[in-house]
Amino acid sequence: METKELTGKFYDIQGFSVHDGPGIRLTCFMKGCPLRCLWCHSPESQEFPTELNWMEIKCVGVAKCGNCLKVCPHDAVSLGATKKSLQDDGEIQLVTVDRDKCDNCGKCAEACTAKALYMCGTDYTVEELMVRIRRDVPFYKRSGGGVTISGGECLCQPDYLLAVLRQCRAEAIHTAVDTTGFAKWEVIEAIVPYTDIFLYDLKHMDSEFHKRGTGIPNELILENAQKIAAAGGKFMIRIPVMPLYNDSEEDFDKFGKFIVGLGDSVEIVQLLPYHNLGVVKWERLQRKAPVLEATPPSDEFMQTRKKQLEAMGLNVMIH
Ligand code: SF4
Ligand code: SF4
Repeated sequence: METKELTGKFYDIQGFSVHDGPGIRLTCFMKGCPLRCLWCHSPESQEFPTELNWMEIKCVGVAKCGNCLKVCPHDAVSLGATKKSLQDDGEIQLVTVDRDKCDNCGKCAEACTAKALYMCGTDYTVEELMVRIRRDVPFYKRSGGGVTISGGECLCQPDYLLAVLRQCRAEAIHTAVDTTGFAKWEVIEAIVPYTDIFLYDLKHMDSEFHKRGTGIPNELILENAQKIAAAGGKFMIRIPVMPLYNDSEEDFDKFGKFIVGLGDSVEIVQLLPYHNLGVVKWERLQRKAPVLEATPPSDEFMQTRKKQLEAMGLNVMIH
């Protein structure tokens, strides 16, 4: 069967998710994204290939192990910083990876029994993913939940996405697609009939600001949202609320007007207050985070923006 050979790449799969659509859900995070949001808290989602990750806390040190230093064919692993030992007053010698030399071959991760070095990105055939999805069917049924295909940007693996959604529909499993909306309309048009709800991000209504914050303009995203609405799709619109970027009264007035224009297709608007919990994930990739110094918005502020959208007739929740 053709679908058996098709694979999708995922960087994580999380059960019992309650924030990615209705009910209890299995959220499947696909790897690779064309956007580069300055506030990205899932940097491991950005690149398409499987890549090496590093969790310093798990490393037992070169004196006890040092396997990674011996196996790298490109001499990319070398001695790095030290950390305090939890067992005594001594220090543990850590390693560091030269990302310019590393080709993500995975040999050091295989040799790292402590799992301090590990590969991020796993390929699943459609059937392999369906096996995992089916395991939680009783929870979906009891809670009105289902599966959410997220990312990264899952629309970047369109054939695989369509195949999974079709199979879920055939098995009466509720489907949500969590997307930036940045894709050719043909890709989205194909999945509309098999997607029960789109979790659709709006990041800025001004295209120039959108580009500054994400690396791309917003025209295609807004156009696709309107086309989905016209094609009968349903939305949970998601707005990441970023201090001094998209959080002014004027910004929200523009968000509100656009969302109201999508009519009955919008079931709910979800406001996602900025947080800086992603710092540690950037460290795992040994990359510098683009922007993390913003102060998370207060509950009071979030309520103000929620009320502003509610006054426009929208159903709004804060994540
Ligand atoms: S993934 Fe391969 S190239 Fe990269 S550091 Fe590990 S062993 Fe070296
Ligand atoms: S193989 Fe793993 S635990 Fe051993 S030194 Fe390298 S990173 Fe640390």
